Amino acid sequence: MPLAIRALIQGSGLPASEARLLLAAQLGVDRAWLIAHAEEPLDDARCAAAGERFGRRRRGEPVAYLLGAREFYGLDLAVTPDVLIPRPETELLVELALRLIDEGARRVLDLGTGSGAIAVAVARAAPQAEVWATDASAAALALACANAKRHAPHVRLEQSDWFASLAGERFDLIVANPPYVEEDDPHLAEGDVRFEPRAALVGGPDGLDCIRRIVREARSHLAPGGRLLFEHGHDQGARCRALLAAQGYADIATWPDLAGIPRVTGGRAP
Ligand code: GLN
Repeated sequence: MPLAIRALIQGSGLPASEARLLLAAQLGVDRAWLIAHAEEPLDDARCAAAGERFGRRRRGEPVAYLLGAREFYGLDLAVTPDVLIPRPETELLVELALRLIDEGARRVLDLGTGSGAIAVAVARAAPQAEVWATDASAAALALACANAKRHAPHVRLEQSDWFASLAGERFDLIVANPPYVEEDDPHLAEGDVRFEPRAALVGGPDGLDCIRRIVREARSHLAPGGRLLFEHGHDQGARCRALLAAQGYADIATWPDLAGIPRVTGGRAP
């Protein structure tokens, strides 16, 4: 039975704003159009398709995966369940990278790029930089490639397990948003993260397995005076600074995100 748009949204079992977002994407219209056409009936096939998506959302699937898109640093990025959903706090890493490019960094590497969010945002805002992006996952790299093609086609993409395929390459700046969640963190059973790739989230028992490796291996991939900057969990700042100090990095610092949470730590090549 055909339903009016208003009734479909009211019966979705979701907050109206979320139901509108999903329905607007399905119909290829914007939310204002849906509000203006609230009394218009939708045919059975469209109602059924909408009902299917509403059900998936009610069962917890992230809006970004249902839409296949998420905005990051003002760019519309494609996302799939193969990659982490880009988060607003990661924009801090983009801003810090752009500052260092302003100060002269030219060769930039985004390690474990996932959707390509960081690399694409940096390359788009700083076309003078030579931006590389790597990921161990072929599916992630294909997605990063699509996002780069659309927003910053000069990003250079390489499949690499951290630095494995980057022998002999050196960079002025290496950035990463590595997996850093502790493997038994109860948050892994809540909300969007339940649907995100575990390999992109979990960094071993204390969350720092990948960060330890990156801190150690980045030393031989930084140009003299080059910098490493990476995102980490809210309570990992001090341990990250200690890891950098133990490997001989200089000018070690931690920066807070917009919520005031220590979010990015970095240092200068030893
Ligand atoms: N910030 C993410 C979370 O808290 C984790 C992202 C990551 O591990 N890089 O779920």
